Amino acid sequence: MKEYKFWFCTGSQDLYGDECLAHVAEHSKIIVDELNKSKNLPFEVVWKPTLITNKLIRQTFNEANTDELCAGVITWMHTFSPAKSWILGLQEFRKPLLHLHTQFNREIPYDTIDMDFMNENQAAHGDREFGHIFSRLGMERKVIMGYWADEDVQKRIGSWMRTAIGVIESSHIRVMRIADNMRNVAVTEGDKVEAQIKFGWEIDAYPVNEIAEAVDAVSQADINDLVEEYYDKYEILLEGRDEKEFREHVAVQAGIEIGFERFLKEKNYHAIVTHFGDLGALKQLPGLAIQRLMEKGYGFGGEGDWKTAAMVRVMKIMTQGMKDAKGTSFMEDYTYNLVPGKEGILQAHMLEVCPSIADGKISIREQPLSMGDREDPARLVFTSKTGPAIATSLIDLGDRFRLIINDVECKKTEKPMPNLPVATAFWTPQPNLKTGAEAWILAGGAHHTAFSYDLTAEQMGDWANAMDIEAVYIDKNTTIRQFKNELLWNNIVYRK
Ligand code: MN
Repeated sequence: MKEYKFWFCTGSQDLYGDECLAHVAEHSKIIVDELNKSKNLPFEVVWKPTLITNKLIRQTFNEANTDELCAGVITWMHTFSPAKSWILGLQEFRKPLLHLHTQFNREIPYDTIDMDFMNENQAAHGDREFGHIFSRLGMERKVIMGYWADEDVQKRIGSWMRTAIGVIESSHIRVMRIADNMRNVAVTEGDKVEAQIKFGWEIDAYPVNEIAEAVDAVSQADINDLVEEYYDKYEILLEGRDEKEFREHVAVQAGIEIGFERFLKEKNYHAIVTHFGDLGALKQLPGLAIQRLMEKGYGFGGEGDWKTAAMVRVMKIMTQGMKDAKGTSFMEDYTYNLVPGKEGILQAHMLEVCPSIADGKISIREQPLSMGDREDPARLVFTSKTGPAIATSLIDLGDRFRLIINDVECKKTEKPMPNLPVATAFWTPQPNLKTGAEAWILAGGAHHTAFSYDLTAEQMGDWANAMDIEAVYIDKNTTIRQFKNELLWNNIVYRK
């Protein structure tokens, strides 16, 4: 990823004289310096000269558009800045914008305040004028209010920066389909042209045997090295299988990992879909191999699900470099625990769950697949971390995309599941299993999800807003009556 930066643009006007403008510039430089020193922002903020004229505003926003390293602009009106001056610049601006509604001083200086101070420090006044023109233009932006030196405000700016990166990077995502969507399945389908229009995603098909040739071309030496790495890193669970045959099966996945990664890099793709029913010359369904590629940051969707593959990639990018990240993965709703007080959904996939979400040790196991007609594939098996997370599903409703975002609480299962040879997670959706699952089904959400411990519903909803698509939230406040109304109203709002 590029070394993205965010521009900090302070608005003012020349009504109050040069001394006032000098203070405005000085204050905004202090804010930028402190934001950069705070360690609460994942990307650097760059100070820009105070914007006071129509011409400079327009020029600055156009420079931001063409600067490849600028991922967005943060604006703040230190004084009053007549917002008609901003119309043209904003209309031409195409990147994420954060309206930081703050003030240089925290406290009213009761003993000394006079009208000069009031005129110089009137964000409460100027930011309202600025907000108005956005609303009048119908433009998407993020508004964050609070004192700039407060940790919670800085963390919210940092959180928005990750959304902005998801917006900027979305248009660079290329998904490789090495199989079509699974026959007869509805929810994984979608309009690829519309996806490119809305999200910028390029979604291209390749014959499975082209990638199988890339796997065949991997040298035995490279495979042996990677198998050694696997055997060092993971626990090997032979479970009575022949040791030599086990290693040979693991080696097949090592060849797939190397061959797939080379093929993806050569053709410049960042996400991939496979299909257990269309494996061509591949000897095994890519299991361990896909799990490792996901851990490296590639998006993935099973059974040709390119929408989820792209979403996993978006969310991997948004969380890149995050300290203490707990993980992001492709996931699938499998089976319920309906015992009162212990309700939840067991999450897994045939094989392909990202080890970034693993809690504790990771093992390699081999088991037959009940589907497909290939060798027993090697896969990484583990259980996942506990705590709050989000599950998202992007669906195509024919006339629009909808992103469904569910807050979930991840837990340990009550008991181990020794006969289950796949990686798992277990969660209870908010507000509870019944309402959460009813709302998900009413919204048309898929069984496949893009899942993360490291992003919030707010970040994903803001991303959807920036993409100009519908977003619905299922969280602790969801009631079915209200949710059904929301879906009904959205049908009108988002109708083409
Ligand atoms: Mn699936």
